[in-house]
Amino acid sequence: MASTATKQHYDVVIVGGAVNGSATAYFLANNPDFTGSVLVIERDWTYAQSATALSSSSIRVQFSNPINIQISRFGAQFIRDFPQLMEVNGDKPDLAFKENGYLFLADQIGFEVLKRLHQTQLDNGADVTLMGTDALIQRFPWVNPDNLAGGTYGERDEGWFDNYGIMNGFRKKARALGVEYIENEVVEVLRKGDRVTGVTLASGERIGCETLVNTAGTRGPQVARMAGLQIPVEPRRRSLFVFACHTPLPGVVPLTIDPTGVFFRPEGHLYLGGTYPKVDPEVAFDDFDVLHDEFEEEVWPILAERVPAFEAIKVVNSWAGHYDFCVLDHNAIVGPHSEVSNFLFCNGFSGHGLQQAPAIGRGLSELITYGEYRSLDLSPLSYERVVENRPFLEDSVI
Ligand SMILES: Cc1cc2nc3c(=O)[nH]c(=O)nc-3n(C[C@H](O)[C@H](O)[C@H](O)COP(=O)(O)OP(=O)(O)OC[C@H]3O[C@@H](n4cnc5c(N)ncnc54)[C@H](O)[C@@H]3O)c2cc1C
Repeated sequence: MASTATKQHYDVVIVGGAVNGSATAYFLANNPDFTGSVLVIERDWTYAQSATALSSSSIRVQFSNPINIQISRFGAQFIRDFPQLMEVNGDKPDLAFKENGYLFLADQIGFEVLKRLHQTQLDNGADVTLMGTDALIQRFPWVNPDNLAGGTYGERDEGWFDNYGIMNGFRKKARALGVEYIENEVVEVLRKGDRVTGVTLASGERIGCETLVNTAGTRGPQVARMAGLQIPVEPRRRSLFVFACHTPLPGVVPLTIDPTGVFFRPEGHLYLGGTYPKVDPEVAFDDFDVLHDEFEEEVWPILAERVPAFEAIKVVNSWAGHYDFCVLDHNAIVGPHSEVSNFLFCNGFSGHGLQQAPAIGRGLSELITYGEYRSLDLSPLSYERVVENRPFLEDSVI
């Protein structure tokens, strides 16, 4: 059901109102130095196919790039403070942050990589422990250490939280601070030379703007193309499986990643798992079929080998979502286009966009308000690297 905007012109138009669009809207509206108007245009208020709604909703500081580590450290603190920060009329949304950590397991070769990443993580203030197999099984006795040389475990700032909660919290607070949301689809971006001047909606309305922010998720490249711009981002399917295990694992159970890429974490009294698929083609926007064979052939055999208790498990739920996958380097593209400088990208999160929303929303609001980053310099994620075909690789991708 299309809804209409109350004005014909806004300072900032945000295309896509899920977690990144709403975080950007919140940080703008909450900044006393920003006095403009903000319109968020979202094509589907159920958010049913958004990555935000289909996410496995976890946060980690175990990245290879300092900027991603810093982004998540800020994100974790923000998630803890969320109830106070997002309070509206006494309602304080708690994101039920389960700070159980991530446990990366590695064979001999992988362990050398983990050691290198571990040093980068320590250098950037992350609290991560490097363990050989003896320490590993002492702490996590349910792990079968065959073929392992060790692992790394995040003691702090890692775990999982409520995905709908973070989106709704940002959205509700942004609206309370004066941001306008409409349910409508952007079908055309209006451009005059090196400036975007507005958008046309599916309802036929035209809305003018000074700045456009592209937070359209997997449809981000589509919105960019409407302005004659390109980004190397594709929808990639990820199937997730919720399973029950007769013998619950004892103690603290982190989000655990096998060297094969198969991962799992607790989900209440159940578990949630999946894998980084070996074959990973671009998929159609509306193809959300779950790849059940992936569980039978790739996920379950590894789970059963790595955690003997998982030999007897039963899948009780499953779904598929789409990563907005940056094929250049698995990292987000954030900030202005190099020529069309009032078109801001916020795309290509490649599976870590939920945890990054607080830092990215804050960064975009600073760019819009001050013309520069004031807190965390997000320029390593800028669009320039796309033009120069200069990958900024993130090695630690799940
Ligand atoms: C299975 C899966 C697991 C994941 N696990 C994690 C994880 O553990 N941790 C993590 O940090 N991240 C994870 N991610 C990634 C994370 O969920 C996404 O990066 C993040 O949610 C992206 O948010 P977004 O707001 O940028 O995009 P989206 O959530 O995709 O939202 C984009 C919105 O734009 C709207 N839109 C599109 N085109 C238009 C248009 N033309 N006009 C108006 N509106 C439009 C869409 O309807 C949609 O609501 C996962 C993703 C998936 C799919």
